[in-house]
Amino acid sequence: MKSSGFAATDANEPLVPFTFEHRAPRANDVVMEILYSGVCHSDLHMARNDWNWTAYPLVPGHEIVGRVIEVGSDVTRYKIGDHVAVGCMVDSCQSCDQCRRGEEQLCREGNTGTYNAPDRITGDITRGGYSKHLVVREEFACRVPDSLDITRVAPLLCAGITTYSPLRTWNVGPGSRVAVIGLGGLGHMAVKLASAMGAEVTVLSRTNDKAEDAKTLGADRLLISTDEKAMAEAQSSFDLIIDTVPVKHDIDLYMPLLDVDGTLVIVGQVGPMSPFNSVPFLLGRRRVAGSPIGGIRETQEMLDFCARKNVMPDVEMIRMDEINEAFERMERSDVRYRFVIDMASLAATE
Ligand SMILES: [Zn+2]
Ligand SMILES: [Zn+2]
Repeated sequence: MKSSGFAATDANEPLVPFTFEHRAPRANDVVMEILYSGVCHSDLHMARNDWNWTAYPLVPGHEIVGRVIEVGSDVTRYKIGDHVAVGCMVDSCQSCDQCRRGEEQLCREGNTGTYNAPDRITGDITRGGYSKHLVVREEFACRVPDSLDITRVAPLLCAGITTYSPLRTWNVGPGSRVAVIGLGGLGHMAVKLASAMGAEVTVLSRTNDKAEDAKTLGADRLLISTDEKAMAEAQSSFDLIIDTVPVKHDIDLYMPLLDVDGTLVIVGQVGPMSPFNSVPFLLGRRRVAGSPIGGIRETQEMLDFCARKNVMPDVEMIRMDEINEAFERMERSDVRYRFVIDMASLAATE
């Protein structure tokens, strides 16, 4: 199946227009026309081969919203015209204990990434959302609730679920004390979601610059991490810290802020972290954890939650041919808070 999009051809080159063949749709697949595609920090890491597992040419994009244009003969959940959304995975074994629990992201055989991964049957490398079409088995497509603004839904599929899942895993609700480190794509969703769940939300930031933004997003306050007095006063005052910083960093500063049995969850950085001091872990029975996206059932639950609570990402819409500039701006954190590509603009580049 012929399609087109934008691809990285090398770690040092900008993304360029690219045509390719999608695998032929199977009986349990839906074919989507992609309408909007979010721009995740991982896309940039992958385009530049920062994790050393990129296969070029790479078509990034795993925050995908589109319309069903074709359904296989065995498809029961969707029909042509439905609005569906796909996140970071398009397949898994479907039979291991994790898959059966609806935690496909933790599949024992590894899930199949939306891009840069071999298809489980044909071995074709998957292509992501910076393109015209997506072929995906129906179990990995989520339904977009009608009340959600379709132009803003895409970032929920990675930034949204990546922060929603740990908030649910650690039972955040009314009265929970949640802190968020980093106010980017993930961080701003963590603030909005935790606040919609009824938690008391604090943003941790090096300066006071983001105080207004933090409030607007729904945070109760901003704690300046370079203010020693304020940090000392905030000791043992959080149940959960969502750490969204996407680069190697030090967590020693933050651990004492957790109450007994509190948890700091790393959701941003994929790779080495700075060495840490075990003292605050031992003395306060504190924990550090990681959390990867979420399962499909939980992703649907998150979309429905956002529809019910009217939680939406703050997005800046761009054209497909603005992607290289968007990558540069994202690297400087010059976006509030997520770029979304209007995929209709792809036609103008062909
Ligand atoms: Zn992502
Ligand atoms: Zn599995």
